[in-house]
Amino acid sequence: MTDDNSGNHEYGPNTKLTHGGYRPRDYHGFVNPPVVHASTVLFPDAKTMDQRAQKYTYGTRGTPTTDALCEAIDALEGSAGTILVPSGLAAVTVPFLAFVSSGDHILVVDSVYYPTRNFCDTMLKRLGVETEYYDPAIGSGISALMRPNTMLVHTEAPGSNTFEMQDIRAIADAAHAGGAIVTMDNTWATPLFFKPLDFGVDVSIHAATKYPSGHSDILMGTVSANAKHWPKLHEAQITLGTCGAPDDAYQILRGLRTMGIRLEHHQKSTFEIARWLESRHDVARVLHPGLESFPGHDIWKRDFKGASGIFSFVLSESDPAKYKARAFAFLDALRLFGLGYSWGGYESLAVMCSLADRKVAKAPSGGPVIRLQIGLEDVPDLIRDLEAGFRAASEAA
Ligand SMILES: *Cc1c(COP(=O)(O)O)cnc(C)c1O
Repeated sequence: MTDDNSGNHEYGPNTKLTHGGYRPRDYHGFVNPPVVHASTVLFPDAKTMDQRAQKYTYGTRGTPTTDALCEAIDALEGSAGTILVPSGLAAVTVPFLAFVSSGDHILVVDSVYYPTRNFCDTMLKRLGVETEYYDPAIGSGISALMRPNTMLVHTEAPGSNTFEMQDIRAIADAAHAGGAIVTMDNTWATPLFFKPLDFGVDVSIHAATKYPSGHSDILMGTVSANAKHWPKLHEAQITLGTCGAPDDAYQILRGLRTMGIRLEHHQKSTFEIARWLESRHDVARVLHPGLESFPGHDIWKRDFKGASGIFSFVLSESDPAKYKARAFAFLDALRLFGLGYSWGGYESLAVMCSLADRKVAKAPSGGPVIRLQIGLEDVPDLIRDLEAGFRAASEAA
């Protein structure tokens, strides 16, 4: 980002989104960086090649396009360095592989994104790493779970599907006191609404597939580390060869420019719909940390600057044997909400959550859990669509 010469002033988030990784003078004045497709990079002579004495040496080690995106992300995260990986899931697995070794114990929040759990329970287990799942509400109590070989504590707030909040500062302090590295999957909030490194997290993980992409057409992950942990993270990226592709990096950088205004819109519409759902008799609970009724609301209010567009609600049904029929009737009546995974795009989505993997943070009772991603459509249209869902669900009883 162009330097601000006025002193210590830090630019606001939308200015960072607009000017991060922005160097038109490097490209003849063209506003956006070129998409550099590269494996081979030529050297001017044998000595330069022998010493690798130039900025770019090979496609896997970065190009002007990937650097522009990494620079923009570093400005948002306040990180020393960022790597780009081919998916949000790889943004979890690559840092785990970077920092843990056979014989280590790691602590992972129980409301974690399911594929993270799957990675821990299969591949990390095979590699001799023991994973223990902890209660998202544990706070500083996590110190009781720390062992001499606890190498990493993984956080995710709010949790996937059920949106439990975590006291990140308290967990990070306890983890550091026990000598562990703290990672956080911050995909829900984005660095606009929560900056993990400011709360003691060492490595911030983001599925750029979601809000940075914004259009449901790119898969990419970013991992950003503080100065202490950047060398090891960078080394792991070089060792594994999990580099991000240039066309995808370009599209994510393009998405970042409008992410601030998109998030404002997602936030506003989502609050309106969440409050409307809260007022309905056929909704048992609304799981959104920005609502006063939500158990982790005070942590959200204290630590977060906003809420994004994904949350869940419990569709009232007292008989667990009827959960599926009720939920399917609701989902099948929706016309604007698509039935699909992922989120962060411009369009609304709905899915019934499976929470069978939970060990501590169990599924709420009272009915099936339905997750909504609120897109950029007009709220009255979305509400009409949801009303049709509720009508169909009540007829299915
Ligand atoms: C979607 C998601 C991911 C993974 O992103 P992909 O690009 O789909 O692999 C990781 N963490 C969280 C919290 C997510 O919601």
